[in-house]
Amino acid sequence: MAGSSPLIGVLALQGDVREHERVLDTLGVSHTQVRTPAELETVDGLIIPGGESTVIDKLTRIFAMRDPLRARISLGMPVFGTCAGLIMLSDRLSDATHDQQTLGGLDVTVRRNAFGSQVESFETTLRAPEVSTDPVEAAFIRAPIVEQVGADVRVLATLDDHRIVAVQQGNIVGISFHPEISGDLAFHRYFVGLVADTLAPAHA
Ligand code: GLN
Repeated sequence: MAGSSPLIGVLALQGDVREHERVLDTLGVSHTQVRTPAELETVDGLIIPGGESTVIDKLTRIFAMRDPLRARISLGMPVFGTCAGLIMLSDRLSDATHDQQTLGGLDVTVRRNAFGSQVESFETTLRAPEVSTDPVEAAFIRAPIVEQVGADVRVLATLDDHRIVAVQQGNIVGISFHPEISGDLAFHRYFVGLVADTLAPAHA
């Protein structure tokens, strides 16, 4: 319906689903958990949470979600992946486990657990000028790094040492960190705006 707010799905197979729901509640955005192809059909955009990408990968296959997810992503559904979600959205992994698959969509190469055991978790502030004028509070937990980006990929944020931690390609946004844990609203707000934009032309 014209003027209705988008319905955001949170892929609820494994990971920090509740934390994403809490951010969406704070923003006053409608959301629903997605575990089945039928539930996927109802949403205007999807968040793939942080967690463990090898587990999310296995569960997407067990729950027969892999093909429906890939189909909707290729049709342009906005998707936002945090940490393990970024890994799931990457076309290439430099250190996948032997049978690990991703959904793909982002023309990037990602390295999992890129910070090694000594600095597995840390918080920092980032600049992401296209997303927010304010610094973004970012929590990194066994985080991946984007090692290589294709020509159509926009870099939204880097660490001070220039390592890439947030990217966008079309309607797909992937970030290495967890705003759902730090409570920073900027990336979720940005993503919800992206979803609303994809709905606007159809209702104009
Ligand atoms: N290291 C995890 C993986 O490979 C991701 C960690 C996270 O989502 N916090 O999936």
